Amino acid sequence: MAETVVLGGNLSPKYMRDFSEIKCEFPNFAPPDRILARMLSWFIAAGGVAGAVTAGYHTMAPHSQLYGRTFTRGARGDRELALTFDDGPNDPYTLDLLEVLAKHAVKATFFMIGRYVRQHPEIASAVARAGHVVGNHTFTHPNLIFRNRSQVRAEITSCEQVLEDALGNAHVPLFRPPWGARTPFVLQTARMMGMTPVMWTVTGYDWSAGSAADIAREVGRQILGGDVILLHDGGHKHMGVDRSFTVQAVDNLLRRYKAEGYQFRTIPEMMRSQAVSRPTTV
Ligand SMILES: [Zn+2]
Repeated sequence: MAETVVLGGNLSPKYMRDFSEIKCEFPNFAPPDRILARMLSWFIAAGGVAGAVTAGYHTMAPHSQLYGRTFTRGARGDRELALTFDDGPNDPYTLDLLEVLAKHAVKATFFMIGRYVRQHPEIASAVARAGHVVGNHTFTHPNLIFRNRSQVRAEITSCEQVLEDALGNAHVPLFRPPWGARTPFVLQTARMMGMTPVMWTVTGYDWSAGSAADIAREVGRQILGGDVILLHDGGHKHMGVDRSFTVQAVDNLLRRYKAEGYQFRTIPEMMRSQAVSRPTTV
């Protein structure tokens, strides 16, 4: 059907890849009928078949602002980058990564899964003590488009609680939805809880990369300046997911981009520099 062709044609190859990678992350993912029905009815409520396609796109596309403002990047073209790491703390790769970041004197931003923080509070604490920024990546890493408002709130609150227990005040109200999946009410709920949603512009695809060089090449291909880079120090499926390629890739990327004069910022630093470079006229 022509609609089907248009369906893919509306998306850039990059987003099509995002979708296909997300599917790869769920080789056995088969949502129950009631969830599929709910998702479909939500998409259709968003405006018919074409609307359903568009709605699906804006649910997952990291740059989209249609469902509410998210922090996505610094000023385009600036020689600054922000490394972000999701799905930790992860034993032992998070600590390996801390060594690499310390070697290059770079601070990064970590979006942690609450249940892993509860398992390894000492690793979460080591990240914060090293001066990195720690944000919220929910407690169990669900796809929030399949959750109702109270479940979304519970996921964020439970993660905040374990971060509080492990780090005291040494974490910041930044929130990254798992897989970047969000709907208007997910973002609205996070904002009502005082959290700023953070997305990204560069995807490392480190969960499926065959080598550290693949990850570094993929990241390098997408960098335009002012980027937020998505990488993973852990994996949502279980503790101990091998992230040695990511650790090595970060070492390579830091060597290359520092030599090219790029500054590496945390997300709050990038937010501040953007606020300074774009003063309001009011
Ligand atoms: Zn994640």
